[in-house]
Amino acid sequence: MRFATRAIHAGQDPDPTTGATIIPISQSSTFTQAAPGVHKGFEYSRSGNPTRAALETALASLEGVGHGLAFASGLAAENAVFSLLATGDHVIAAEDLYGGTVRLLETTVRTRGVDVTYVDGTDPEAFEAAVTPRTRLVWVETPSNPLLHLTDIAAVAEIAHASGAALAVDNTFATPYLQQPVALGADIVVHSTTKYIGGHSDAVGGAVLTDDDELFDRLRFYQNAAGGIPGPFDSWLILRGLKTLAVRMREHEKNARVLAAHLSAAEGVDMVHFPGLPSHPQARLASRQMSGPGGMVSLRLAGGKPAARRFLLALRVFSLAESLGGVESLACYPSEMTHAWLPEDERERRGIGGGLVRLSVGIEDVEDLIADVDRALAAARAG
Ligand SMILES: *Cc1c(COP(=O)(O)O)cnc(C)c1O
Repeated sequence: MRFATRAIHAGQDPDPTTGATIIPISQSSTFTQAAPGVHKGFEYSRSGNPTRAALETALASLEGVGHGLAFASGLAAENAVFSLLATGDHVIAAEDLYGGTVRLLETTVRTRGVDVTYVDGTDPEAFEAAVTPRTRLVWVETPSNPLLHLTDIAAVAEIAHASGAALAVDNTFATPYLQQPVALGADIVVHSTTKYIGGHSDAVGGAVLTDDDELFDRLRFYQNAAGGIPGPFDSWLILRGLKTLAVRMREHEKNARVLAAHLSAAEGVDMVHFPGLPSHPQARLASRQMSGPGGMVSLRLAGGKPAARRFLLALRVFSLAESLGGVESLACYPSEMTHAWLPEDERERRGIGGGLVRLSVGIEDVEDLIADVDRALAAARAG
């Protein structure tokens, strides 16, 4: 079956006991056994729950892999992957990462004696140069936040595998609708299902997907042992959102293309970052490893921080908020929100200065989004 069909049907057969067409919310912590050890596959909801199992099967199907595990958040999912590392191991990570990923690496991972090296994610040779005999894991996020830089997944997978390391890809921005990292050579895919997969900004969740039986056994052991699982209701919300992933992504992308082109020609905008623009420095890689550029657009305002603040305060349809990937349009100010943790000179070096605004383009009517950014740009220039 094709993608949109699997999003609606994989793991989602009608309930055998009642015929319920939609996976029920199995709001039960425990499951009655006919005799000790004789049960229908579920014993206790930390170890396994029918609603969560449906979500895990559906997500694995969409990433084209055999195994899926759902977690209570994207970071809980990441922590499961980092649990594979032991003292003395080495991780290579792209430097353009979700802030929470860096915080997790720098606090809980590094403090247990795991070494972490950050490299330029756009340069496969930088990964190769960073490899040591202790390298066990390579971690990338593509497209990256907030500049929409890309990592060549196939090239980095080859480098990781040549040194016996696994490649994990945070696929939150692209979603499996646009990019399937395992087909490109990655070993593990991680999602914050809070974002596009849930799609309605109403639940926090995460997932780890893999086709590797041994990695899966270790990750599933960790999921049960550490217990960072989503509850049945959140699993159900994310599964409900997932059903419309294909149609939502098409609309996000259509609107993002129009908005990116409009902003590129707008007065007061210095630069637009969007993998679907011919001016994107990795436009060819984007068309090779993604089936579309997605719905995230960043712009740099010529007037710097004062202009960006006027722009953000004048928006009416876009909400000023962290997070992304919901049906509603959101605007975020990385230098004071998602990337406030970086020292200012480091933000400037990376191009995340005071003029940068990140847009999560929703699926409202695009005319309203254009009118909104035009009003905000006029306000930004008026200062
Ligand atoms: C939000 C996000 C995360 C963290 O996920 P949570 O669900 O917030 O824990 C990780 N990676 C990326 C790319 C994200 O956008």
